[in-house]
Amino acid sequence: MPIRVLPPEIASRIAAGEVVERPASVVKELIENALDAGAHTIQVEIQEGGARLMRVSDDGCGIPADEVELAFARHATSKLRSVDDLDHIGTLGFRGEALASIAAVSQLEMSTRAAGEDLGVALRLVGGEIVHRQPTGRPPGTRVSVENLFFNVPARRKFLRSPLTEAGHIQELVTFYALAYPDRRFSLTHDGRQILLTTGSGTLRDVLVEAMGVDIAGQLIPLDQEASGDVEGYVHVSGFISPPSLTRANRSNMIFFVNGRWIRDRSLAYAVVQAYHTMLPAGRFPISIIHITLDPSEVDVNVHPTKSEVRFRTPGRIFSAVQRSVRATLLVSASPPQGYFPQGEDALRAEGIAGWDPARRAALLNAGRDMVDAALNLIPPAEERPLEGMEGFADTARQRLPILRVVGQVRQMYIIAEGPDGLYLIDQHAAHERVLYERLRAGLEAGGIGSQHLLEPTVVHVGLGQQACVEDYADLLERAGFLIEPFGESSLLLRAIPDMLAGAPDPAQAFLDIVDELAGGETPLERARDAAVMAAVCKRSAVKAGQTLSHSEMEELVRQLEATSSPLTCPHGRPTMIHLSVDALARQFLRG
Ligand code: ADP
Ligand code: MG
Repeated sequence: MPIRVLPPEIASRIAAGEVVERPASVVKELIENALDAGAHTIQVEIQEGGARLMRVSDDGCGIPADEVELAFARHATSKLRSVDDLDHIGTLGFRGEALASIAAVSQLEMSTRAAGEDLGVALRLVGGEIVHRQPTGRPPGTRVSVENLFFNVPARRKFLRSPLTEAGHIQELVTFYALAYPDRRFSLTHDGRQILLTTGSGTLRDVLVEAMGVDIAGQLIPLDQEASGDVEGYVHVSGFISPPSLTRANRSNMIFFVNGRWIRDRSLAYAVVQAYHTMLPAGRFPISIIHITLDPSEVDVNVHPTKSEVRFRTPGRIFSAVQRSVRATLLVSASPPQGYFPQGEDALRAEGIAGWDPARRAALLNAGRDMVDAALNLIPPAEERPLEGMEGFADTARQRLPILRVVGQVRQMYIIAEGPDGLYLIDQHAAHERVLYERLRAGLEAGGIGSQHLLEPTVVHVGLGQQACVEDYADLLERAGFLIEPFGESSLLLRAIPDMLAGAPDPAQAFLDIVDELAGGETPLERARDAAVMAAVCKRSAVKAGQTLSHSEMEELVRQLEATSSPLTCPHGRPTMIHLSVDALARQFLRG
């Protein structure tokens, strides 16, 4: 075929696809416009997960009557004037393509009135074409209704997930913006039901209570504010983090805002997890709501059409500011030492080194709980190999462990054992996960997993995202031993749980952890969906890091691990143990 310039209607649909991935992207752009317009109250209504209707109303500055049509032209914006403005963007929008893109793939109605004008305008567009315009009386502000998203892009419409799933994404997004702007009032309704309502009090903690419930919000710790300024401009970090005891099975509660813009950034999430260092159990993630404020010229927001990724000019500086702030907060707020590795000032006292010079004191404070890890790191990583001759983790051939003698427990996390050729460090959680996983598999093959009825059925509150996940996995959850029934609008009734969880102090929380794990956690090595459910149940049931085990419990665990078919890895593929051979030890001690 010869090269041709695409006709405008095709070009505009392609461009629209970049901005509008799913209903939540529409809501995102409309909320950003409302915020840029200085709105104090932002109401979001959706029907059928947004596929039928998404309506965002604001009390912002409105659009002057003679500019309303222009707002829907591609690359039309009131937020940028020159190329230079691109270097220090102070608004959420700036590309001038959201309204054009949304209008191109929906049936859209806007009614708006600018603050200084007597009459407003109502405009109707179908597939980007204006089909109707009329003057209208209304209070100052703007309302945009987007109906039948992708009505003219059947391929896209087909790919919309269930209303519950799409509504879950929208709920998450509105919650993020409410967290970013505690001084604005947000409300979200789905099919007429109120899902979120914030007061606009200006206090982040109030929004957290709305978004996560009073139990969780009450446990969050305000971040030690970290402000630093130098020749490269200022960085300010604020927000809330969870104590190490409050964790989640995935990263979806690690939320970042840069200059009031919600962004995704894996390295920032990594910086936060690093700051918790060894305080988190394996595979668990903190809750963190972190606001980063910096000179707009220090961050490039023009990276992607959805504007949800940014590039920092000096990323290292930003990450370390975040890390310092989280670390400092954790050190100060850490609960009293639980019988091991005192921290902070306690560490100084315990070590009798209060009189040391400040630099050495600081080094020790930083070391804190990490000292054992530091000690272990002295062993070159090359020696941290799985058992000799058994490197192929996924090997179906039966792996074998030598006979191990339990010596003791380190940091309530690792079991030390002696074998015929040196020392073995066993991760108690990973090992137990493997044992439980094989037991569940065997149970399933033998005709079903045991289930226990709860004495009192428990009501479990689930968010929309969680609800969608439960629906998705309903049959498998049942096969794994859960008995659940719908109960009211955003709740389930938990009637029975798998035998394996029988001892769990809080079955509802255990259930939610498993759902979260399924929604966004790691995929087990065996990728099938039933394997995912089993792995999630095992992860939740396994002994945790931080749990003291008696000598006989450790011996029992090691014996059970020996009996499994793949004792060297947990169901997610991580090693259950590290071997330090006699030779390796000899070399470390320079014994020749
Ligand atoms: P951008 O936000 O990148 O400028 P949009 O396509 O989202 O591009 O919007 C185009 C223009 O329409 C904006 O620059 C703004 O002037 C106007 N506009 C859109 N939504 C609103 C609103 N809710 N209130 C006031 N003005 C709005
Ligand atoms: Mg915009």
